[in-house]
Amino acid sequence: MLYPLIRELLSLEPLSQSVTVRGWVRTKRELKNLTFIEVNDGSCFSALQCTFDREKGLGAETAGTLDSITTGASVEIQGLLVPSPAAGQKAELAAGGIVLVGGAPAEDTGSTAAYPLQKKRHSLEFLREIGHLRARTNTFGAVMRVRNRLAFAIHQFFQDRGFVYVNTPIITTSDAEGAGAMFQVTTLDLGELAKSGRAPDYSKDFFGKPGFLTVSGQLEGETYAAALSRVYTFGPTFRAENSNTARHLAEFWMVEPEMAFANLADNMDLAEDFLKFLFARVRAECDEDLRFFDAHIEKGIIAALDQVIHAKFTRVSYTDAVAELEKHKDKFEFPPYWGCDLQSEHEKFLTGEIACGPVIVTDYPKEIKAFYMKQNDDGKTVRAMDVLVPRLGEIIGGSQREENLERLEQRITESGMKTEDYWWYLDLRRYGTVPHSGFGLGFERLIQYVTGMANIRDVIPYPRSAGQADF
Ligand code: ATP
Ligand code: MN
Repeated sequence: MLYPLIRELLSLEPLSQSVTVRGWVRTKRELKNLTFIEVNDGSCFSALQCTFDREKGLGAETAGTLDSITTGASVEIQGLLVPSPAAGQKAELAAGGIVLVGGAPAEDTGSTAAYPLQKKRHSLEFLREIGHLRARTNTFGAVMRVRNRLAFAIHQFFQDRGFVYVNTPIITTSDAEGAGAMFQVTTLDLGELAKSGRAPDYSKDFFGKPGFLTVSGQLEGETYAAALSRVYTFGPTFRAENSNTARHLAEFWMVEPEMAFANLADNMDLAEDFLKFLFARVRAECDEDLRFFDAHIEKGIIAALDQVIHAKFTRVSYTDAVAELEKHKDKFEFPPYWGCDLQSEHEKFLTGEIACGPVIVTDYPKEIKAFYMKQNDDGKTVRAMDVLVPRLGEIIGGSQREENLERLEQRITESGMKTEDYWWYLDLRRYGTVPHSGFGLGFERLIQYVTGMANIRDVIPYPRSAGQADF
């Protein structure tokens, strides 16, 4: 039998029942004859307060163990679950016995450095250097619980709507969509190659040609949508982004639904329903964690989420959005003009200052979007959509796909690529082609938006970015 977690203990009516709690010591305080130990096991935000009453005569062994307890130690504490006299907690443990499972020295012992998480607050930068321990802090515990609920809710949303979960490949031999620089995967001995001075012979490489880590599962996702009607992927993607921004990782998780017989309007509806569903699930299931983010990370985030759940997302064409931005030219480092790629500052202005909420921008110039997007009749724009949110900018990028063979071939050639390389993708347009649409949601951007965490490195257990993959 699994032992009860603190979240389970705290959901019980305190009736002086005997229970044992297991976890890590957050704090120990002494007050007259009382010793208070806060134990957290990560199952919920709250710690369980365990109160030892020295006057009631703790055994010599318990008293001795208590003295050796320090912040960070793992413990097992037995006692009675009783109503708590303290404000803000329903129950506490009237503790009887304690076992020290694993110590955590408060000071350098010579062989072991002092436990690094003893202060009440640590900077996020410092915590990034101890990625293996930061999950033991309030902030990272809360982020990871929210991340977990969101992952579950993503599956729930799609499963309830007839979408089939497909796993698209992580290793690919086609430079899929040019969405970003790719990481190469090879078994060739680079050291030997460098010594020999010869060019690599990829016929001798593992796949008989160059291999890469995927930047998106979309193209393969489309092949399954053309068979199962509605599919989604949810997996890791890799981009050798050299930009050191607070919104880009080299390894991140992406959710990519793809729907047959769906146009851009259907796609926008799905994206909007999807985000609102996810926000509503987090509001319903992560209240304690959200209250922490609201108080300590991003003030007003709960009210903002509530507002977004009930508001209609603003929908605007790229052309109209740029016209609006041009009225505020002087506010930007990069002046907006028709044809420009929207900068993060433009996206933030549209969402924060103009719409005061999420905005879906559609019909971008074809030159700044991928080759597979459906062309509009104006010959200039494509059926693209980006969902932008306040504080962050782009959270979703998607489009209606070009289902016409000739037009798609023409776009591949125009983009400087070879139609032969996309023979299987073009086959979808040769055999039973259908209008279809889909999008990609960056999972970490979603978590950033919901938690208010400013840096994307702080919403994934082990961030990978240029020059950084130690933890
Ligand atoms: P951006 O302009 O912000 O770099 P993009 O246009 O390259 O985004 P897409 O190729 O449309 O993004 O990918 C779909 C989604 O994946 C984006 O909307 C975003 O949420 C997320 N995303 C893209 N690149 C990254 C990255 N390097 N790290 C984390 N998430 C990312
Ligand atoms: Mn990008």
